Amino acid sequence: NLHVRVDIPSKDEVGSLGTAINDLALETNRYRSNRREFFANISHELRTPITYLKGYAEILKKDLYQTEEERQHYLTIMEDESDRLTRLINDLFDLSKMEEGKIDLQMDVIDLTGVLEVALKKAKIELDKKGLTLNSRIDKDVPLVKADAIRLEQVFTNLLGNSIQYTKKGSINVQVYSKRNEVHVIIEDSGVGIHEEDIPLVFERFYRVEKSRSRELGGTGLGLSIVKNLVELQNGTISVSSQLGQGTRFQLSFPIAKEVEA
Ligand code: ADP
Repeated sequence: NLHVRVDIPSKDEVGSLGTAINDLALETNRYRSNRREFFANISHELRTPITYLKGYAEILKKDLYQTEEERQHYLTIMEDESDRLTRLINDLFDLSKMEEGKIDLQMDVIDLTGVLEVALKKAKIELDKKGLTLNSRIDKDVPLVKADAIRLEQVFTNLLGNSIQYTKKGSINVQVYSKRNEVHVIIEDSGVGIHEEDIPLVFERFYRVEKSRSRELGGTGLGLSIVKNLVELQNGTISVSSQLGQGTRFQLSFPIAKEVEA
């Protein structure tokens, strides 16, 4: 920690300089402890799948299983854990590029609706698997926005994926409309919901309301922080509202492309 503590009992410029230095020290310490926590999280998240991989490799190597079924089960776990590692590394790579401002966005004037429909089509398989209904109310002739089609699809896919993951029964509702100078997208589910206290934290890196459950479902806890970063890099906004046991609603907005504004 930075042990700076300036005590100047005066209300003049020198006094306010003292306050500024104290604030800066506080900020620096907070930054350092965030960084430390971030790296502690990363090593924990990377170590866990490796522990599984090594453990099951050892079991298989020493023939410590009873049946062929059991062997297959261990191999499946190893496959899943390898996939998780890949996902984690990709997510971390995305995040670090974004935070350094080094991600290259291909900003084009595009039809957001088309991108959303591609994401919905891909989500359909998972939706059907879980027996969830999809209600979509997508306005026709929504104005074009300036965005990166690939990154926008990543945003929609991620939010839809979460909605499906955290919903046992009911429906996923998707809405698109334009209002003032913005195109609005709503992705809403009738799932488990998020506790009021957790709502402000869900966009934070590695934050997961239920660690073990999210992990079981394949989550890395990085999805929403990537989503938020990507939305903001495309000049959009994202917010969430939720009722525990009722469902969750993500609201996004993107400015209408200047080139097409009347
Ligand atoms: P994860 O990989 O764990 O899904 P995310 O960053 O995507 O990580 O989400 C962070 C946490 O926010 C999740 O662990 C989950 O607890 C909560 N969450 C995200 N989306 C939803 C949703 N649609 N319904 C309920 N909870 C959600």
